[in-house]
Amino acid sequence: KGAPENHEFKAETRMLLDIVAKSLYSENEVFVRELISNASDAIEKFRYISSTNPDNVTGLDRKLEIHIETNKQNRTLIIQDTGVGMTKDEMIDALGTIARSGSKNFLKQIEDSQQGAAANIIGQFGVGFYSAFMCATKVDVYSRGSHPDDVGYMWTSDGTGSFEIQECEDVAVGTKIVIHLKAECREYAEEDRIRDVIKKYSNFVGSPIYLNGNQMNLVQPLWLMEPKEVTDDQHTEFFRYIGNSFDIPRYKLHFKTDVPLSLRTVLYFPEGKPGLFEMSRDSDTGIALYTRKILIQSKTDLMLPKWLRFIKGVVDSEDIPLNLSRELLQNSNLIRRLRNVLTSKVLKFLYDKSVKDPESYEKFYKDYGLFLKEGIVTTQEQPQKEEIAKLLRFETNKNDDGSRIGIEEYIKQLKEDQKEIYYLAAPSRALALNSPYFESLQKRDYPVLFCYEPYDELVLMQLISYIVLMQLISYKGHSLVSVEKEMRRATSTEEVDQFFQEHASDTLSQRDTDDLVRFLKTELGNKVANVKYTSKLDHHPCIVTVEDMAAARHFIKTQSHQLT
Ligand code: ADP
Ligand code: MG
Repeated sequence: KGAPENHEFKAETRMLLDIVAKSLYSENEVFVRELISNASDAIEKFRYISSTNPDNVTGLDRKLEIHIETNKQNRTLIIQDTGVGMTKDEMIDALGTIARSGSKNFLKQIEDSQQGAAANIIGQFGVGFYSAFMCATKVDVYSRGSHPDDVGYMWTSDGTGSFEIQECEDVAVGTKIVIHLKAECREYAEEDRIRDVIKKYSNFVGSPIYLNGNQMNLVQPLWLMEPKEVTDDQHTEFFRYIGNSFDIPRYKLHFKTDVPLSLRTVLYFPEGKPGLFEMSRDSDTGIALYTRKILIQSKTDLMLPKWLRFIKGVVDSEDIPLNLSRELLQNSNLIRRLRNVLTSKVLKFLYDKSVKDPESYEKFYKDYGLFLKEGIVTTQEQPQKEEIAKLLRFETNKNDDGSRIGIEEYIKQLKEDQKEIYYLAAPSRALALNSPYFESLQKRDYPVLFCYEPYDELVLMQLISYIVLMQLISYKGHSLVSVEKEMRRATSTEEVDQFFQEHASDTLSQRDTDDLVRFLKTELGNKVANVKYTSKLDHHPCIVTVEDMAAARHFIKTQSHQLT
C-alpha cells in the first residue's frame, strides 16, 4: 500500500552489513538465537506496557508466542512474534542504525585489526538483528506497533546500501521476519537443523516457541523458580536434562540474589563418583551461562574455577549483555565479580554441609576430596585458600577407624606442650603406624596427620600457612613439621647420657656406639650429610632422614617404580 520509501543505511551500519554479509563465520547459526531473543524481548516489552498502560495497547488478550517456520522449497525461515511490534519510525530507527554496544565494539575491533580477522570474530559478537545477513540474500520485516492507531509496515533489504519501507495491510500486531536464505545456508530452511539450534540456545526462553506448529521449549527454566517451591523430583529431572545423565544430584544449591549483582543460579553436585572425564583438567566445565533465559555460553569456564569442574548447573545474570564477545567476557570486571560470588557461595555451602551433616560430607570428601586439594594448590585467591583449608580432611594416628578430620579438629587435639603440627608421609596407614619416624611422637601422644599421596605434602604446606590466618591458633610459633624433620633434631648431651644410663644393660656402650658412628661415616663418605645419635628410637636400630619434603622422597620412590 502506498509507494515504497527508500532509505540509505547510515555509514556505520553499511560497514557492519558489508562485513556481516561477506563473513564466512562457521557458527553463523547464532543469527537464529539473535532473532529469537529479539522476539522474546518484544514479548516481554508487550507484557510490561500492557500491565502498566493497558488503555494504550491493542490486542490485550492475544497469546504471547513465538512461531518459527521452515520452508525448504522457498528456502526461507520465518520468525514471528506477537510482541510489541514496531511503528514505521521505530523500524527506520531500530533496523537502520546501530545502537547496540556489541555492534559498536565489533566495528571498533575491526578498525583495529586486519580485514581477514573480521570474519573470524563476527559471530562472537552477536551483532543482533544484522546477523541475519550472514545467511540471507534478503530480509523482510513485517511489523505493527501495539498502539490502537498503529498500522502495519514492511521493511525490506538485501543488506547492501539501503532498505525500503512501505505501509502494508493485514499485518498482525507484533513482528514477522522472513529470511530468504543464501544457497550455502539452506540448512536453516530445515526443521531438524532449526530444532537443534533452538535446543542449544533458546530452550528456556520464557514464551512458548513453536517450530512448524509444535512447541519446542517444554522444559521450564527451573533456576528462575522460587528455590523453596522446587521439588526434589523436579531438581533430579532438570539435573538429568542439563547434565545429559541418569545420575541424581548429591547436593543442590539453588539461590537468587539481586544485590550487588543479579544472579539466578542452580548448581548440582553429582551423586556418582567422578569419572575420567571430570578428573582431567582439560575437560569442559558443566556450567551454562545465561542472561535472561538466553544462552551465552554452555560449558563455560567463566563462572567457577577449574577445580570445581565436577559441578553442573546454570547461572543466569541479567547484568550480562547478550552480545558480549568471548574476549570481552573474559576480561570483564563483572564476570570476575560474579565468579567470586559464586565460588564463595559454593565454599560456604560445603562448609555448612561439613558442619551440619558430617557423615554425608565425609562421603563427598571420599569421592571429591581430590578436587579440593587441587583447589588449594592451584587457586590464586587468598581468601579462597582459607575457605578450602577448612574443608580438607586427613587421617591421623588418633582416629583408629581411619576416619578423617579437618584441621580445626586437629588443632583442638594438640597437646598442651605441642608447638608443632606434625605430619607423616607414608604409602599407607599401616606403614605410617609402624614407621620408625613415628615412634618418638607416639611416645609423647601427639596427634600426627598422615598423608598417603605424594602431593599431600604440597597441600599441607598450603594449609598450614592459613592456620594462623584462620585464627585457629591464637599465638604465633606454630609451624608445620614433618615427622622426619623432628627426628633430625639434635639429641642433647644430657639426653645421650641419660639414654646410656637407662639402657646400660640392653644396648651398645657409648664407646662402641662412637666406633660404629665413625665406621659408618667413613664407609658412607659423602653419600650422607651426617651420622649421629638419637635417643628417639625404641624399636628400630637406625633411620635415614632427609632435609625437608618427606613427600618428595615418597614421590621419587613412586617415580622410580614407574621407571623400572
Ligand atoms: P538489541 O536487541 O540489542 O536491541 P538488535 O540489533 O537485536 O539489538 O535489535 C535492534 C532493535 O530492533 C531492537 O532493540 C528492537 O527495538 C528492534 N527489534 C528487533 N527485532 C524486533 C522484534 N521482533 N520486535 C520488536 N522490535 C524488534
Ligand atoms: Mg537483540
